[in-house]
Amino acid sequence: MSGLMSIGEFSALSGLSPKRLRDYAVGGVLMPAAVDPDTAYRYYSAKQLPDAELIDTLRQAGMPLSEIKQTLRNRSSQRLDEWAQYVRVDAELRHDALARARKLLPAGDTEVRGVDESKGANMALQLHVAGRTETGPVRENNEDAIVATEQLMAVADGMGGHEAGEIASALASAAAVAVFTGKSPDELGAALRAANWAIWERASSNANLQGMGTTMCAAGVLDGATLVIGNVGDSRAYLLRDGALRTLTTDHTVAAELVRQGKLTSDEAAAHPHRRLLTRALGVGTNVTVDVTCVPLLHGDRVLLCSDGVFTNVPDDDIAAVLGGSETPQMAVNAVVDRAITSGGDDNASAVAAFVG
Ligand code: MN
Repeated sequence: MSGLMSIGEFSALSGLSPKRLRDYAVGGVLMPAAVDPDTAYRYYSAKQLPDAELIDTLRQAGMPLSEIKQTLRNRSSQRLDEWAQYVRVDAELRHDALARARKLLPAGDTEVRGVDESKGANMALQLHVAGRTETGPVRENNEDAIVATEQLMAVADGMGGHEAGEIASALASAAAVAVFTGKSPDELGAALRAANWAIWERASSNANLQGMGTTMCAAGVLDGATLVIGNVGDSRAYLLRDGALRTLTTDHTVAAELVRQGKLTSDEAAAHPHRRLLTRALGVGTNVTVDVTCVPLLHGDRVLLCSDGVFTNVPDDDIAAVLGGSETPQMAVNAVVDRAITSGGDDNASAVAAFVG
């Protein structure tokens, strides 16, 4: 068997999981170079690595295996131009169908729920935004990622061994930034679903990244007057208005679900062994349910997005005091993150704050 490698070795070199390699063999696009008739073990040749990379890249472009097979036979850039054209037309048809589907929904039937709609301000408000993320004194890596722009804020708390958690939270942030343009609240749900897909695709095609995932709490600004919040996992968004702090998001953890079902008090939940087990995360499967909430903004509102490394170590009263007492959003995020990492907590700590002026 000289010159050949096992499916495990080929998987490690190509970054494609054995399952994916088997799918490609079944699809007829990348056959093993040899199969041992006694053991049924499959062997691949190093010469197949460039094809493996090409096939996987075409899969990421959404090309079905049957089309990839044709492309491997006719390796011209014209094939790719044709596929690009198809992708554009297909996206337009899907958008048209979604617009028709929207008209078919009964009025008011939408995932988006509003808070204080009567108070909505029509004129554009000025947002001042700042963020900070820290590894903290205990962890080796910072698996949190943040987005802190005037149009989009986000905190993502990644998980997975080695570098995988960082990759997951960074992919989620990049996908959210790429999809959200501020035109519609629907975009934020779409942004988190796109992030979910991007992470799942990457994790399922790379043996080293399997099992990676991330939370994401994102807040986008519509017309300078409304905040739309999308949440999956246990990062949080808080709003300080008129001196009162409220949580705008629901934690998707086992313990929080038990509190909502009335089976645990919130004090019991804080000490529950499953308090950190997530019931929803981005990248775990092909589908994810995103909570979307709209909050019309008012002059003087202060918003904080943070990872669990902050809110498990900084009590709500302190968060309210810092948000209300800081002159700038940068001072607010510096203060809450400092408190989180000096409190003895062992997690990464991240916060993004917006002051509405
Ligand atoms: Mn965390």
